[in-house]
Amino acid sequence: MQLTFENDPQTERLRETHAHLIEWFGRIQRPHTKRVDPVWTLVQGVIGARTKTAVSNAATDQLLERFGSWEAVAEAELSEVTEILSNQTFPEQSARRLIDCLQTIITERGEVDLRHLSNQSTADAMMWLETMPGVARKIAAQVMNTSAFARRAMVIDSHHRRIMQRMGLVPTKADTARAYNALMPIMPDDWSAADMDEHHMLVKKLGQKICRPTNPQCARCPVAELCDFASVRR
Ligand code: SF4
Repeated sequence: MQLTFENDPQTERLRETHAHLIEWFGRIQRPHTKRVDPVWTLVQGVIGARTKTAVSNAATDQLLERFGSWEAVAEAELSEVTEILSNQTFPEQSARRLIDCLQTIITERGEVDLRHLSNQSTADAMMWLETMPGVARKIAAQVMNTSAFARRAMVIDSHHRRIMQRMGLVPTKADTARAYNALMPIMPDDWSAADMDEHHMLVKKLGQKICRPTNPQCARCPVAELCDFASVRR
């Protein structure tokens, strides 16, 4: 990561937060081989609501193994897809959303393929993705950032949003889309897609281990000095 000298204090807080989290948790970098087909990433996101990532990853692979193509998944019976998604938190709802999403892509593109997005700006591509059933800002950013597209787009899950709100970098009542709109303009210019990906994974880990939804452990938090919530508590 190459350092630049931006003066925005919020950008500097993000940069310092990132450095403290790396010091605390170590590096969390996605291997290049894990940047897969954007359609795979989209499917994993659509079926993965409130389900552990490893479980959704396995279910996404199982869908492709069982049906052979995403077009075949789109034409499958709801019950068959639901059965394969039985380990997801919401199997039938996930299956229904996935079939709707894949059928909509086929209607618009003739096949399940997202290659046309590679010619578009990240903002335009995300806007298109968010018109698909079951796709909102988090999944759109995930497709753009963590797949082979490797674009600068911050994935914001509930941990990430909560922490940024407590730190004072995102308005308290912001939903994911507002949080994204607040954070993207203050991202360090020199952060690559991989840096943003790592930042999200580090912040998420903070949310899982220390800044829990209830009783955040500010006394042992590595970013307490940068956090509005902790400062008010002190
Ligand atoms: S200082 Fe407290 S509120 Fe702020 S990020 Fe850390 S645990 Fe969360």
